[in-house]
Amino acid sequence: MVYFQTIPVREKGVTMQAEAVDDILKRNQLSVTDSRKKILELFLGNNGALAHSDIEKKTGEKFDRVTVYRTLQTFVEKGIVHTIPTADNAVLYALCKDDCTSGHHHDNHVHFICDICHTTYCLDSVVTPEVKLPQGFKTGTIDVVVTGICKNC
Ligand SMILES: [Zn+2]
Ligand SMILES: [Zn+2]
Ligand SMILES: [Zn+2]
Repeated sequence: MVYFQTIPVREKGVTMQAEAVDDILKRNQLSVTDSRKKILELFLGNNGALAHSDIEKKTGEKFDRVTVYRTLQTFVEKGIVHTIPTADNAVLYALCKDDCTSGHHHDNHVHFICDICHTTYCLDSVVTPEVKLPQGFKTGTIDVVVTGICKNC
C-alpha cells in the first residue's frame, strides 16, 4: 500500500525521499534491505514505469538479476507496484496508488506508452472501460495500453 500524500514527488530531497521509502516498507511490514530501498527510490524519483532492465541499469549492477526480480515480486505481492504488459513482452512496473493492498490490486487505469520518448505513464484519471463479454465468460483483469505521443513530446 502506498500513500501518495506522504511522498514528495516534486521535491526530491534526499532525506524526504529516504523517509518515504522507509515509510512504505514499514507500512507493508517489509524489512529494510539495500535492494528494496534502492529500487523503491528509483520508482519514487521516476515519473514513468520501469522495466526490469532499467532497474538493473540504474542500480549500477549493485544487485544481481535474481535480487532485482525477487524484490519486484515482493513489491507486486504487497501492492506497492503493479505490472504493465507491453507489446514486446517486456513487463513494466509502476508504483500503485493508495488503494492497493497485499494481494489486492485496484489499478483499473489506462496505461499510455509514448512512441517518441518511450515513457510509460499510469493515467490514473482514465478508468479502464468495462468490456461486455459473451455469456459464460468472466472477466479477470483488463489491461488497456494506449500508444501515441505524450504531452512532453
Ligand atoms: Zn496496485
Ligand atoms: Zn513522450
Ligand atoms: Zn499503472
